[in-house]
Amino acid sequence: MSGDTHCTVSGDGDTGGGRVLFLSEPGSCGGRLDPEQVLVPNDVAEVVDWHVRPPRWEGVARTTCGHIDYELISVNHPELFDLREQVGAPALPALWEAKRVLAEVGLLLQLEVQIEQIQGRCALAVYGAGVEGRLTDALWAEISALLTTCCSMVREPRPDVDPLAGVLTPRRPAITRGRRMIPASVRPAAYELDDTTHTWWSYEVFGTLREGCACTAHTPAAQTVHIGPKSRVGW
Ligand SMILES: [Zn+2]
Ligand SMILES: [Zn+2]
Repeated sequence: MSGDTHCTVSGDGDTGGGRVLFLSEPGSCGGRLDPEQVLVPNDVAEVVDWHVRPPRWEGVARTTCGHIDYELISVNHPELFDLREQVGAPALPALWEAKRVLAEVGLLLQLEVQIEQIQGRCALAVYGAGVEGRLTDALWAEISALLTTCCSMVREPRPDVDPLAGVLTPRRPAITRGRRMIPASVRPAAYELDDTTHTWWSYEVFGTLREGCACTAHTPAAQTVHIGPKSRVGW
């Protein structure tokens, strides 16, 4: 952790609102947004500050921890999630239900959410969800039914991985032997057991929903989004 790291990222199509300055502070989870930025609503910026990290791709910033109440943000600012028109991530109520189920046993749902700029406006996309360690069979049954979509990639720690030991190096090849049943007959795009410390579901922006599937990604909004090559507006 270094206290002097900062980098500036400019949003495309200079609308004056996309500049985000990452300043990290020792002991904090991540950096903060530029206090002068106008892209992210103030109340949201206040919540994500000290948790943001540089984007992985054409975004403004992202968070990957479990500290941010995105459920409250989705209530106060539903347009932030609507604007992204994401296909393949679970419906938001499924995410919040997973958060509640995990919280009951003291586990924290972590979300990878990216702040993006679409046509000059702020949008949020969910690129991942998961939890530290390997779930019990009972929890797996509940959580996998909520978080597995037909466009998701699922990664579970191999049963012999000690999450407290950190990432094993060198990593062994991922295996498919030992995969567990996912209820509701949902087939993810991929599901592997790996030398990883988290049980993790990864999602795309524009996944292709499998016909006849009943996973939580098949929301009415997702069905209306044009599937296939799409002119990706906003960048
Ligand atoms: Zn955090
Ligand atoms: Zn599906």
